[in-house]
Amino acid sequence: MAVSVLGIIGGGQLGCMLADAAKKLKVKTIILSDDIESPAKNFADEFIYSNYNNSKKINNFLHKVDLVTYEFENIPFETLDKISRLKKVLPEPNINKILQNRFTEKKFLNSLNILTTPYILIKSKQDLKSNFNLIPGLLKTCTLGYDGKGQHKISSIEIIDKINLNFENEYILEKIVDLKKEISVIITRFGREKYEIYEPIENLHEDQILKISKIPAEISKEIFDKSKEWSKQITDKLNYIGTLCVEFFIDKNEKLYVNEIAPRVHNSGHLTINSHNISQFENHIRAICGFQKIETKKICNAKMINIIGDEIIIYRNKKFSKKEFFFDYLKKNIKEKRKMGHLTTIEE
Ligand code: ADP
Ligand code: MG
Repeated sequence: MAVSVLGIIGGGQLGCMLADAAKKLKVKTIILSDDIESPAKNFADEFIYSNYNNSKKINNFLHKVDLVTYEFENIPFETLDKISRLKKVLPEPNINKILQNRFTEKKFLNSLNILTTPYILIKSKQDLKSNFNLIPGLLKTCTLGYDGKGQHKISSIEIIDKINLNFENEYILEKIVDLKKEISVIITRFGREKYEIYEPIENLHEDQILKISKIPAEISKEIFDKSKEWSKQITDKLNYIGTLCVEFFIDKNEKLYVNEIAPRVHNSGHLTINSHNISQFENHIRAICGFQKIETKKICNAKMINIIGDEIIIYRNKKFSKKEFFFDYLKKNIKEKRKMGHLTTIEE
């Protein structure tokens, strides 16, 4: 089936860049989002403002599109599943269901013999207290967290009674890794034995928010190969179609762990717009729409900086050199800790 109109659920910055990539491939995009101020409405052909349980509006959206994808993983499984009965959804809702929950995600990884940080499911304060072997640890909500949101540092047992937790949510407690470095691998799978895989990207976080991404990552050959191999294994097992990102930790002993998987394009891959002949966004659209797979090659090394909160004001008035590429997500409201844009600098 030829795809000429693509529906994208979610209207954040990833939606902006997906819509841009689709334009290049002459695919029209319609964004569905529950945020009336979605930045992606400035980039897509059409924008539908709707709650994720408004059947009428969702049906209207589905009538107009040939295929559905999404740019964030926190969409209720029931919504995606319902949609998939009417229109094809890629990546498949079942995959998102596993990966949107930190507990099922880690169990899945361990079933592939892929190392994760030690963790345990937490349903009560008592559970927390009895797992002191994982303290100091990070308590994370199983679902809905991003940019460090929904996380509490448990530095000692004493702290447990002082924090406010809502056990209507499930949590995992995860051992804190003595980090040497963080990297990510972006991979696009087109089908069996058909991948385009970008080299590992080195990531620096500040306050649990991604600040800088760069290639090449300064890592050993072993880690370079193993991170790519694990990423392939993950997509194979999921029978994944589209772009996916695997986030890794490397500890002080050079041990590699998978931190988490995003079943979508990823912030650390923004630099691929300028460093490669085909970006992570274009590869995603090519894969899900069944377009030709083009060999993806690096043109140059690059470094991306996330522009957070009111830093954007300076960038909006700045002059850039030929090697600098500024992306403004055109978000209306500036908020602290909010990703407002990014700047990629290429090395020639
Ligand atoms: P999010 O969904 O918010 O991205 P992550 O689990 O990736 O959640 O956590 C965000 C960042 O916090 C990580 O990239 C890392 O820098 C830090 N972090 C998270 N878990 C751990 C851990 N177990 N040990 C050390 N640092 C961690
Ligand atoms: Mg993360």
